[in-house]
Amino acid sequence: MRELGYAAPSGLAEAGRILLEVEGAMALAGGTDVVVARRLGKIAPALVVDLKRIPGLDEIRDTEGAIEIGALASMTTISRSSLVGEYFPALATAAGVMGCWQVRNLATLGGNLCNASPSAETAPPLLVYEAVALIDGANGPREVPMADFFTGPGTTVLARGELLAGVRLPKEPQGLRSAYARRALRRSMDIPLVNTAVALRIAEGVVEEARLALGAVAPVPFRVRPAEEVLVDRRLDGAALRAAAEAACASARPITDVRATAEYRLAMIDVVVRRALAEVAEEEVAA
Ligand SMILES: Cc1cc2nc3c(=O)[nH]c(=O)nc-3n(C[C@H](O)[C@H](O)[C@H](O)COP(=O)(O)OP(=O)(O)OC[C@H]3O[C@@H](n4cnc5c(N)ncnc54)[C@H](O)[C@@H]3O)c2cc1C
Repeated sequence: MRELGYAAPSGLAEAGRILLEVEGAMALAGGTDVVVARRLGKIAPALVVDLKRIPGLDEIRDTEGAIEIGALASMTTISRSSLVGEYFPALATAAGVMGCWQVRNLATLGGNLCNASPSAETAPPLLVYEAVALIDGANGPREVPMADFFTGPGTTVLARGELLAGVRLPKEPQGLRSAYARRALRRSMDIPLVNTAVALRIAEGVVEEARLALGAVAPVPFRVRPAEEVLVDRRLDGAALRAAAEAACASARPITDVRATAEYRLAMIDVVVRRALAEVAEEEVAA
């Protein structure tokens, strides 16, 4: 195994400069993807740039009209945050079901997003909450809507020398109900075969606004506009759930791999979309 250098910068600008200047340098957050990939020989970084010493990068902040979650916030922190639970329950659920508790204690939001797996647990909730990626590094700050962040399996808009500083989620006005659902081969310690997040605004039983995102069934997680359109202006009954699930299946491009066939994944889209929508419908009835 190649000898591994280590740097622990105290700020994102410094971290970005190291990544820019040192050939083969790689950011390190919780290490749950990096360490495993290195052990398996899939990557051979010359130097890891440890982000954990950068102050404040693991915080969740209540700013005016929005919540900002630092890239270094762990899944455990996110799943237990009362702010996230109150405003963004689908994200809290996703963070709380990922992997196992040992992984959740280490795994960070930034690592999950920058690893850019099509099945990244936190991506569908961030898409339906219309989050913005806060980027910083060697070239200074910029912002990119989460919908444009992923560019393909394992790739993002981040340029060399850039890091994810965090995400900003606009606090929704009252009345947006959301849910997260996933299907994996095993109940825990398994990445999703398909995952979904839904967020609906319902007034007097009728859907006014619908947002639905899917993961693991296309090269990148994505908003499913046709499924959103079929839900608007109708009651959330069985027929609406079926129509949305059908539209979601028609929009997906699942692949067959060692974990599941494309056909099985399609069948599971139907299951998870209906489950997430049914959860929202039940909440609406109970409210
Ligand atoms: C046993 C096990 C089970 C798992 N189960 C799941 C699961 O159910 N669902 C799921 O989605 N994932 C799962 N994972 C994958 C992994 O835990 C997550 O992707 C995790 O969130 C990665 O975060 P990390 O902090 O460990 O990232 P790291 O491994 O430190 O980094 C991952 C990648 O992101 C880059 N990176 C990290 N932070 C930044 C940043 N701020 N800016 C720019 N680049 C950055 C790194 O360079 C690297 O390329 C599992 C992993 C293991 C080992």
